[in-house]
Amino acid sequence: MRLAVLKERRPAETRVAATPETVKKFIGLGRSVAVETGAGLASGIPDAEYAAAGAEIAPDAAAALNGAGIVLKIRAPLGAGEGAVDELSLIPRGALLLGQLGADAKTAGIYAQLGIEAGAMELLPRITRAQSMDILSSQANLAGYRAVVEAAGAFDRGFPMLMTAAGTIPAANVFIMGAGVAGLQAIATARRLGGRVSATDVRPAAKEEIRSLGASFVGYESEESKQAQTAGGYAKQLSAEFYAEQAKVVAAHIAKQDIVVTTALVQGRQAPQLVSAEMVRSMRPGSIIVDIAADAGGNVALTKPGELVTTENGVKILGYHNWPGRIAGASSALFARNLLTFLTTFWDKEAKAPKLPAEDEIVKGVLLTRGGAVVHPSFAAAKAA
Ligand code: NAD
Repeated sequence: MRLAVLKERRPAETRVAATPETVKKFIGLGRSVAVETGAGLASGIPDAEYAAAGAEIAPDAAAALNGAGIVLKIRAPLGAGEGAVDELSLIPRGALLLGQLGADAKTAGIYAQLGIEAGAMELLPRITRAQSMDILSSQANLAGYRAVVEAAGAFDRGFPMLMTAAGTIPAANVFIMGAGVAGLQAIATARRLGGRVSATDVRPAAKEEIRSLGASFVGYESEESKQAQTAGGYAKQLSAEFYAEQAKVVAAHIAKQDIVVTTALVQGRQAPQLVSAEMVRSMRPGSIIVDIAADAGGNVALTKPGELVTTENGVKILGYHNWPGRIAGASSALFARNLLTFLTTFWDKEAKAPKLPAEDEIVKGVLLTRGGAVVHPSFAAAKAA
């Protein structure tokens, strides 16, 4: 039975769900692998490298999916009317589909109806055993790095203090908002570049992590923020009063910053708005804001998702889509390894296929559908038609 890797067709998607390295491993596990032609190009991987790893290069999605028992994707397959190819209709019944599917009750119902066993990797539980399969962490880490590098590129001064015979250029003040996986990598990267770095978060654990990376903590703390973290490690939605107090602290700080990188997310909701239009107006011309949360609605009032905006007072806001996709070679490599680890964890050597035990915590977290029914606890109400 074969494993299929499709070319991503959604806008701004540059990544690919398998690399020559993971293809070789799947072949070693006894699978044949078909890669759709051009699947890796935007990540710098030509067909020839997949072929050298042992993959068959399929001329189109239909050929790649023909007889596939496992389908690897970055984003959800396109359905009828969503693009030039109706990928969903080409996936064989009973195939296991894995990717960042952006799962909801409606799509889970569609997968069930089509008899696809769909695994939404973004729903992976955040437990130690699952860390090496965690696509949200691997991709956020690279997004945090890339955001700072792009901020440095767009900034018309430097990050480090530059002492020259012609005089001194001061170090840049860099403020990272949200110190989860992306934010902590952004702090580390900005420090390596020589910036003077501060950061904020609402989860109490983040304060120590910020300091341990050599940045200063700036933030508002209250009785409410002591309980700001869910059991799953995510930030909770907090009260309007808390956000108002937080905004006062941020407003005073942000006016003195050259670079602001915002990464704040609240799972399952629109990203919290942390930087108002007024705060942007308080910044000096030439300052840079990078809004990594742009795809989730943005942390900055003036972000235009997918665009670089220059405000009237000369502040540039980089609100591009898909930050991990802007460093596609590395993000594809990590995403592909996350999928490989998930599959090999449950690999049955005899069957040369994964066996996903229904009672396993990881499987319960990820698997949307099985045997034509929605099985995920969050969406189980949406039964197959
Ligand atoms: P995320 O992407 O959901 O959010 C990014 C950050 O935004 C979080 O730190 C969050 O607290 C912060 N945030 C939310 N609202 C905010 C506000 N109003 N102001 C400032 N910051 C705000 O989170 P994440 O990066 O995926 O990680 C969250 C936590 O989970 C981290 O502590 C991370 O280390 C942990 N984690 C654990 C595992 C594991 O154990 N397997 C895996 C991944 C992450």
